[in-house]
Amino acid sequence: TDAYIGAIEATTSLNAYVLPTPDKARAMAKASDEKLAAGQGGPLEGVPLGIKDLFCTEGVRTTAASKILGNFVPPYESTVTANLWKAGAVCLGKLNLDEFAMGSSNETSAFGPVLNPWGSDNRRLVPGGSSGGSAAAVSAHLCAAATATDTGGSIRQPAALTGTVGLKPTYGRCSRWGIVAFASSLDQAGPITRDVRDAAIMLKHMASVDDKDSTSVDLPVADYEAALEGSVKGKKIGIPKEYSIDPMPEELAAFWKKGEDWLRAAGAEIVHVSLPHTKYALAAYYIVAPAEASSNLARYDGVRYGLRVPGEDIIDMYESTRAAGFGDEVKRRILIGTYVLSAGYYDAYYLRAQKVRTLIKRDFENVFHQGVDALLTPTAPSPAFEIGGKQDPVEMYLNDIFTVPVNMAGLPGISVPAGLADGLPLGLQLIGRPFDEAGLMPLARALE
Ligand code: GLN
Repeated sequence: TDAYIGAIEATTSLNAYVLPTPDKARAMAKASDEKLAAGQGGPLEGVPLGIKDLFCTEGVRTTAASKILGNFVPPYESTVTANLWKAGAVCLGKLNLDEFAMGSSNETSAFGPVLNPWGSDNRRLVPGGSSGGSAAAVSAHLCAAATATDTGGSIRQPAALTGTVGLKPTYGRCSRWGIVAFASSLDQAGPITRDVRDAAIMLKHMASVDDKDSTSVDLPVADYEAALEGSVKGKKIGIPKEYSIDPMPEELAAFWKKGEDWLRAAGAEIVHVSLPHTKYALAAYYIVAPAEASSNLARYDGVRYGLRVPGEDIIDMYESTRAAGFGDEVKRRILIGTYVLSAGYYDAYYLRAQKVRTLIKRDFENVFHQGVDALLTPTAPSPAFEIGGKQDPVEMYLNDIFTVPVNMAGLPGISVPAGLADGLPLGLQLIGRPFDEAGLMPLARALE
């Protein structure tokens, strides 16, 4: 813990942490030492973790990287972080992210962008987003592992851009209670780690059914670490042809091919499959996610949380608070969301997007029914890009092209570092059957 606190203090230039909590960390580590000395202690006893600042932490400021939460100090702990502390983990502090987890580059944070440790002073690169702080911190050894969340790719894409492992579990595997909501039917918590084994260990201690989240699922949480030893022999891996985008960057195609070879060498059978509705996933996601966000963000009214800007009357107060408290990207999402939900447009946009979502889910069900165990795809269409390099929101949204369908279908996905192109990491994604995170483990291992 001391070593990590030292590293965090020496590496503030990355802007990965919005709130280091060294005193809390030392106190927790001391308690862990005492437990271990007494021959007790949990499975994660003394392991120092970074926490994405979207998870509510009791008595520790939680901001979602938004000005509107101000100095909000939650009086309760999220279920996922509570599970981790119960297992013995130590809290190093809160990690930067895109405001309300809306973004793919960590540039929408009210605390400013996070730098990708793979960049340099003359090449300032994004770490991906929205879990950019989590990915940068893990990559730069500023924590042993980090929590993150994934609504449309925010665990997997930053993992790919920083050479780390990002695991998005099946929707319902981890409780969403105490995680600041973005799009509730898509949000899911998971770990960003240095390798697949750490991801397996972290997931085991993050996952649980929870009375406080009715969408969390009461299924046994497997021993994912033991599952790493599972056999790859005879596993059927699907390569979905629709993930060959046009134009397909050469190095991406090359690594995708290598991924096939690695899995084949480990004994898997490669089959070519089709997910015909893939091309509509991004458009449908950018209707469903903003719709849910516009509803979730209605609670930030200047009364219940953090920031309040006084006004002449209550409506004026609401408007002034929201105008000052939300950043541009969040406002854009609220505008899109309220528009697609409004009378006259609901059927044309929101309802249609929900129907497309069902078709996307069925595409995956069909290939799994054909006996496919998992799918292999690239994680992101490009390696880390320069800060300020993508100004057009639609261009930014295109980053999520390979990750969004997985959220729309609620499936588990893991991004594993595949290698370097021009000195920058690229990731490969494995997509699994619902609640079969254990089945992904040996496959992910074969890609490492
Ligand atoms: N980049 C996507 C978005 O901006 C996904 C974000 C996420 O997964 N939280 O909506």
